[in-house]
Amino acid sequence: MIQFHILTIFPDFFRGPLDYGIVRRAREAGLVEIGIHDLRAFARDRHRTVDDRPFGGGEGMVLKPEPIFECVESLGVAPREARRGTSESVVLLSPQGELFNQEIAGKLAGLQRLALICGRYEGVDERVSAFLADRELSVGEYVLSGGELGAAIIVDAVTRLLPGALGNEASAQQESFTHSTATAGDGPNSTCASGGLLDYPHYTRPAEFRGMKVPEVLVSGNHEEIRRWRRSGALEKTVRNRPDLLERVALSAEDKEFIARLERAVNPDQ
Ligand code: SAH
Repeated sequence: MIQFHILTIFPDFFRGPLDYGIVRRAREAGLVEIGIHDLRAFARDRHRTVDDRPFGGGEGMVLKPEPIFECVESLGVAPREARRGTSESVVLLSPQGELFNQEIAGKLAGLQRLALICGRYEGVDERVSAFLADRELSVGEYVLSGGELGAAIIVDAVTRLLPGALGNEASAQQESFTHSTATAGDGPNSTCASGGLLDYPHYTRPAEFRGMKVPEVLVSGNHEEIRRWRRSGALEKTVRNRPDLLERVALSAEDKEFIARLERAVNPDQ
């Protein structure tokens, strides 16, 4: 069971994104609780001001530190020093953060409480990152207008890793980016686990649609052939779209030979 706390100036933003599918079912099953906290409720002045002009001049507005500190403190999480190594964490969404990925999602899924601070405008007063949050996380190398979409991404990716959240536990094991434990011998050659590669291509009925046919092998019923086809498909996609992932993956002799053949097909001179 994990409690997410989302700190935002736009609480209504979350009507919808966290109310469907796996996240909704996980909430209903009590595997996760999601609290949405309006930072304006922690503003002290009459106008409920949460932002102000930047010191030093320049464009735009910056989220003030006081409402954010007070909102986090109202959650009853331990102070930052005491929090280290516990099951609570406070994260600031920021394009300057460490890149969020499946491995980080897996670690966060072990927490009991996770607070996610959503910035807006030009960003958040740096004292939040320096003295309140445990870390900054970015959801990608681009600039969004606010941290809310990022927070929704983190809640979604973490929730689906909680035991019991997916109907079928095996499916999380074989997804893209997942380094599963099946690496016996000289590589993961006995299962369809992704082993850190991108997922293999999926097909469903109809077997033929507008002249486009499902690969024959998938309807053959030959499990060993299907396993090999899926592994090749995963390798092919990874080579094409994310060759950087190959450096971190355990490859079998069969995998290496397949990649060499792919490379020869693209560049016959090699
Ligand atoms: N001036 C900042 C961008 C601010 S965008 C810069 O150039 O780095 C406003 C807010 O949106 C940020 O405070 C952050 O909370 C959120 N945000 C924008 N892009 C993000 C990303 N890639 N990952 C996570 N949060 C992001």
